Amino acid sequence: MTWVAGLIATGEVKCDGCEKIMRHPDRYAYIAEEGQPPLRLCEKCSDARGYMRRRKDEKGKESASFL
Ligand SMILES: [Zn+2]
Repeated sequence: MTWVAGLIATGEVKCDGCEKIMRHPDRYAYIAEEGQPPLRLCEKCSDARGYMRRRKDEKGKESASFL
């Protein structure tokens, strides 16, 4: 069971994927998997690992959100 939350960085948060430092108001994904330490991933790493969902609204504008 994997649990993903989309959060806004407060202070400094290090991405566990690329080690980039994220600062407010960057968004990041907090991924908790049973039996494993939680991961904090920047949008790029989240996307690369399939934790982002892209969708287009009725005007064709693309937006991405965390799963
Ligand atoms: Zn990253």
